[in-house]
Amino acid sequence: MKVYLCLGSNLGDSRQLINQALGLIGLLPDSQLLRKSSLIETQPYGNVYQPVFWNQVAELETRLKPHDLLHRLQEFEAKMGRVRTIKWGPRLIDLDILFYGKKILNDHDLVLPHPDLQHREFALRLLRELIPSFKHPILNKNIAELYKELQQKETK
Ligand code: AMP
Repeated sequence: MKVYLCLGSNLGDSRQLINQALGLIGLLPDSQLLRKSSLIETQPYGNVYQPVFWNQVAELETRLKPHDLLHRLQEFEAKMGRVRTIKWGPRLIDLDILFYGKKILNDHDLVLPHPDLQHREFALRLLRELIPSFKHPILNKNIAELYKELQQKETK
């Protein structure tokens, strides 16, 4: 299955931490890291009173099941020293699953596609580099369209 992950960090040496996380993701069993978007600096989302973020999107081919992948990513977050504080608080590393193919899921611990994706300019911008014509399975619009729509909303 083709999976899209969003990596983020706004504490410590963020670029190095994102690189380190990509290294761990590349070693996941039954998985292969295929492509990466650019790594960009972004304004904090939600709680704006915190350092700027660095974000990157990765395309992974994997045979891991969605929950197994989530648990592996959470293990990486913990191993890399992430401590959960407040929602949208500063973080050393944040690993989110944006898409797991076209799978739709609404479990208490895993929602697919990522429920906030269409509101996050940085995630859409980075995804658009890799898969502009990929159709969101619930919203039925492709990434380029969702990005344009959000930009229009933000400039209103
Ligand atoms: P965050 O603080 O943004 O890393 O949110 C982490 C929480 O979101 C975890 O408890 C996950 O179980 C939950 N979650 C729900 N859907 C997803 C997803 N698609 N990717 C990553 N975490 C998710």
